[in-house]
Amino acid sequence: MAFQITVLPSQHTFVAEADETILNAALRQGVMLPYGCGDGACGACRGKVVSGEVEHGSVPSHVLSAQERAAGGALLCCAKAQSDLEIEARELPAQRLAVKTLPARVHRLTLAAPDVMLIELKLPPGERLQFLPGQYIEILLKGGARRAFSLANAPGDDSLLQLHVRHLPGGLFTDQVFTTMKERDILRLSGPHGSFYLREDSAKPMLLIAGGTGLAPIKAIVEHAIGERSARPMAVYWGGRTLADLYLLPLVQQWQAAGIRFVAVLSEPAASDHWSGRSGFVHAAAMADYPDLSRHQVYVCGSGPMVAAARRDFVGQCHLPEDEFFADSFEVSHASTVPVAG
Ligand SMILES: Cc1cc2nc3c(=O)[nH]c(=O)nc-3n(C[C@H](O)[C@H](O)[C@H](O)COP(=O)(O)OP(=O)(O)OC[C@H]3O[C@@H](n4cnc5c(N)ncnc54)[C@H](O)[C@@H]3O)c2cc1C
Repeated sequence: MAFQITVLPSQHTFVAEADETILNAALRQGVMLPYGCGDGACGACRGKVVSGEVEHGSVPSHVLSAQERAAGGALLCCAKAQSDLEIEARELPAQRLAVKTLPARVHRLTLAAPDVMLIELKLPPGERLQFLPGQYIEILLKGGARRAFSLANAPGDDSLLQLHVRHLPGGLFTDQVFTTMKERDILRLSGPHGSFYLREDSAKPMLLIAGGTGLAPIKAIVEHAIGERSARPMAVYWGGRTLADLYLLPLVQQWQAAGIRFVAVLSEPAASDHWSGRSGFVHAAAMADYPDLSRHQVYVCGSGPMVAAARRDFVGQCHLPEDEFFADSFEVSHASTVPVAG
């Protein structure tokens, strides 16, 4: 059974089957709704049902409360239409890059910290993956599982892709990265995905906040902006528990030569770190320095709780307009619902 979905305020329409998510139906038909994890965990695909009935799927109440549901709130990556619908959702510009499924060869593996591997992937000769700085790919595993990883390099030489992979012990893919993976291995990937990318149509100053390997897409954004000689003021805050978590510190410090402000923040510095820099939560350090974000654009990437706290506090306390907050939360991705093109 299929239903007609009308997006407000754009009035774009598309058709959704009763057994597919509204997000998947929209993306399949070229309506670019924002999304992140594709799994109901990050809240980036939040929209409002103005008329009609949806089935919400298994959305945790800390991402979408009962009150929000009662007021029409829905996570479009999980919600399925039960009737024709009118939904209010922010739509992204038509700029939509082709999602490809490609093989890639592991070109280089670099252990940057005990639990962080930098992977460089090379695409087959003549193949390119066009992407926007900040987007992610999915590694396609045997048996149909997929795992999301942000591209850490700026688009440009897009035959070589960089990933920053944190080891989750017991994890299907990252265990493999830290034990059996070797250079010249072949992986399969799909991409690009996601609506976390640099908004180049804005001239607002940017605050960029990364937790751990959340640096990867922030690095892509910053390196792209440097390469484009962007005049926008930029401040990067990178947080970890200990100094070892800041696995590319010398490289990030070099951005200061391009006029970018950089602040490292540790939440639990080890005695051996001899840390005299900023401590505490990374987004709290940024809030202390930028109590008024009403004229900023903010990009945040890291764990789910970090992204949720940043969204709440920047919008709630620092006057950041909600539509100037962009984030990817690194949710554990046991399943992905984002469609893959052939
Ligand atoms: C948009 C996006 C971009 C991302 N980008 C990055 C990135 O650039 N770098 C990065 O490091 N991460 C990134 N992530 C996070 C990454 O995709 C996840 O951490 C991913 O799940 C790791 O895959 P895995 O196969 O190793 O672990 P999984 O198999 O997914 O397991 C993850 C953890 O859960 C545990 N686990 C597995 N099964 C169960 C179970 N049944 N019950 C309880 N526990 C279980 C495992 O032991 C492990 O500790 C991103 C996530 C998203 C959504």
